[in-house]
Amino acid sequence: MNRTVTIVMYHYVRDLERSRFPAIKGLSLERFRRQLDHIQANFTPIGVEDVLEALAFPEFELPANPILLTFDDGYSDHFLNVFPMLDARGMRGCFFPSAQAVLEHVVLDVNKIQFVLAAVPDMQRLLDQVLSALDEFRPEYALRTREEYAATVVEEHRYDPREIILFKRLLQRELPEPVRAEIVRRLFAEYVSADEAAFACELYVSVEQIACMQRHGMHIGSHGYSHLWLSHVSLETQIEEVDRSLDFLRQTGVSTENWTMCYPYGGFNESALRVVEDRKCRLGFSVEARIANLDIDHRLALPRIDTNDLPS
Ligand SMILES: [Zn+2]
Repeated sequence: MNRTVTIVMYHYVRDLERSRFPAIKGLSLERFRRQLDHIQANFTPIGVEDVLEALAFPEFELPANPILLTFDDGYSDHFLNVFPMLDARGMRGCFFPSAQAVLEHVVLDVNKIQFVLAAVPDMQRLLDQVLSALDEFRPEYALRTREEYAATVVEEHRYDPREIILFKRLLQRELPEPVRAEIVRRLFAEYVSADEAAFACELYVSVEQIACMQRHGMHIGSHGYSHLWLSHVSLETQIEEVDRSLDFLRQTGVSTENWTMCYPYGGFNESALRVVEDRKCRLGFSVEARIANLDIDHRLALPRIDTNDLPS
């Protein structure tokens, strides 16, 4: 009996060529359309409820080649582009907005970093700018040397060259939070936009759009409050991130009875698992790139493949 599910992860889905940032890493509308054609020809799209039923009842038969589509970060792309295409095909998707981006009209650091990278082709210049800025913060923070930071990334990565991984790592989690936030803020203001709130309103879905997608059968789950690596923060912060994201879902009219957790950056640890488990989370999604097996994988840490792993 089949107990495997292909879970696919998407981020940006937009008309890249005609957008202001054509270098942003995402899927064009044309490629997304072709991928949906491929999926409908080769897989059976299912929803979160089907996975829950399969987990609850071992005799529940999943359809042949089941596939679950997940969309991270709550981009307006998902409301404007993805939702109508899925709806027209009678397909469902799972959407994971970060609460802070929607509620406070701030651009998440993860996205500021992406848009800076898309706006500045000279990677070495950006990296030098970050490492030089560190000296300014040394009197106040116990920072490591440039060489030590440069050595924090040694592993090869599937999609990005080493310099880009290092740039992202430093600004996503290696540097102390106030230092990272300030450097990212400066880079974003210099290279992308001086009006963060306006940019955020364009970039993310609104509360109304989330409610609308939900009314039309789309699943909405948690992606934390402020998109932190849950594996790199205190238990107290993990609890706060999860609880505030659940409050956000309830305020938006999303039922949290069968809620799901999509860990930002795929980052979780034992204590994060306990936090979501204690709050009766039903499914959790990581970014480990393989096909999920419901008999083997932890239901709160299901692996997902990237859209780039499927033909489009
Ligand atoms: Zn995310």
